[in-house]
Amino acid sequence: KERNGHEPEFLQAVEEVAETVIPYILEHDIYRDKNILTRMVEPERLISFRVSWVDDQGVIKVNRGYRVQMNSAIGPYKGGLRFHPTVNASILKFLAFEQVFKNSLTTLPMGGGKGGSDFDPKGKSDNEIMRFCHAFMSELFRHIGPNTDVPAGDIGVGGREIGFLFGMYKKLRNEFTGVLTGKGMSWGGSLIRPEATGYGTVYFAEKMLNTKGDDFKGKQVVVSGSGNVAQFAVEKSLQLGAKVLTMSDSSGYIYDAVGIDSEKLAFVMELKNVKRGRIHEYVEKYPNAEFVKGRTPWDVSCDIALPCATQNELNEDDANTLLSNGCICVSEGANMPSTKEAITAFHKAKILFAPGKASNAGGVATSGLEMTQNSLRFNWTREEVDNKLKEIMCNIHDSCIKYGKEEDGYIDYVKGANIAGFVKVADAMLAQGVV
Ligand code: NDP
Repeated sequence: KERNGHEPEFLQAVEEVAETVIPYILEHDIYRDKNILTRMVEPERLISFRVSWVDDQGVIKVNRGYRVQMNSAIGPYKGGLRFHPTVNASILKFLAFEQVFKNSLTTLPMGGGKGGSDFDPKGKSDNEIMRFCHAFMSELFRHIGPNTDVPAGDIGVGGREIGFLFGMYKKLRNEFTGVLTGKGMSWGGSLIRPEATGYGTVYFAEKMLNTKGDDFKGKQVVVSGSGNVAQFAVEKSLQLGAKVLTMSDSSGYIYDAVGIDSEKLAFVMELKNVKRGRIHEYVEKYPNAEFVKGRTPWDVSCDIALPCATQNELNEDDANTLLSNGCICVSEGANMPSTKEAITAFHKAKILFAPGKASNAGGVATSGLEMTQNSLRFNWTREEVDNKLKEIMCNIHDSCIKYGKEEDGYIDYVKGANIAGFVKVADAMLAQGVV
């Protein structure tokens, strides 16, 4: 706390893990004696650098770039890049810390990292995005590599940005390697990677519902966000027979009482991915729907809530509203979208609650599968990758039960995910000595 007191998001993420992992450490002297948790909270390396680029008017702009290389005990650093004006060291350290546990849970050999910039992609032309990505990579390339650190996308970094970043890396290194994931299909990408985080979040929720003899069929689902994760969480919910009522962006949410069907979802995908428009434009196309400005969708009555936008977007009041409206299941597609107080409310009510590090791990798991395919120089079919994704989500669910099932049968998925993720990394650190 003394060293990181000025980094609230990072402290929040560490505290949540510490609360569940410390009692486990106290029962296992070796982790305590070797100071494992204290070592885990300090990044192995934190790189910060200047990114200078020229906008369409010829004005020179300066942004700050980062890469947090948090832990490489079980594999090369792996984690996304975020381009958003709020990006700072605290947010990237929280994301990198979460990533260590999440990657461990996937059972694939990946360490944890995260990076990005305070660059705001909103309103920028394609050429400006390209120049920024090229400038960003002209420094980052020194610190990454297919066996060292393999970045991916996150908020503000999708297929377009990964393409520009990859192009500059390839030019500077003069080699074609799987140094980034989320690549296009014709140049080393994996089928199902774009869908994986959203699909995985829904697969995980379905597994949780199955423990109660229930499933998605006929359920009312509320989704926040309208980016990569949200879009495919909606798609999979529809495929499993649910009715999706909301989507959102940072300007507010749309509520469609008759449901966002696959045709309406295609409109949102075109709006967000191609036209780069705002969610309120949905209401111009579908006037039966309503746009609620400046608010998150948690006051809409639902059975299942899927927060898929950003951190701390669901607070204690939102949690209580969801509970009083009869919500039975919350599966986090975003990273740390629920505040600590919201999670406490869900646990008190003993509803099904999955933390992002378990439920959104399908994205990085499929990135791991993309790395494997790159190494093999081979592509698996859509069905093969989807089956592996389902199997991984199933295994994560089993690990959560192993470490999170309480005496009364309630599954504390937060505790389960934290301890399962911790044990694998801690054992590798013990084996490798003090390095
Ligand atoms: P996108 O950039 O594709 O979409 C982000 C969505 O969240 C947009 O609708 C955006 O709205 C909204 N949003 C962003 N910031 C805020 C904010 N401060 N307040 C309200 N809404 C906001 O990102 P992704 O879908 O890739 O990522 C969403 C979440 O999922 C993040 O927490 C990310 O870390 C997490 N995640 C993503 C993975 C992936 O594979 N992409 C993997 C695992 C986790 P607007 O357009 O207005 O900014």
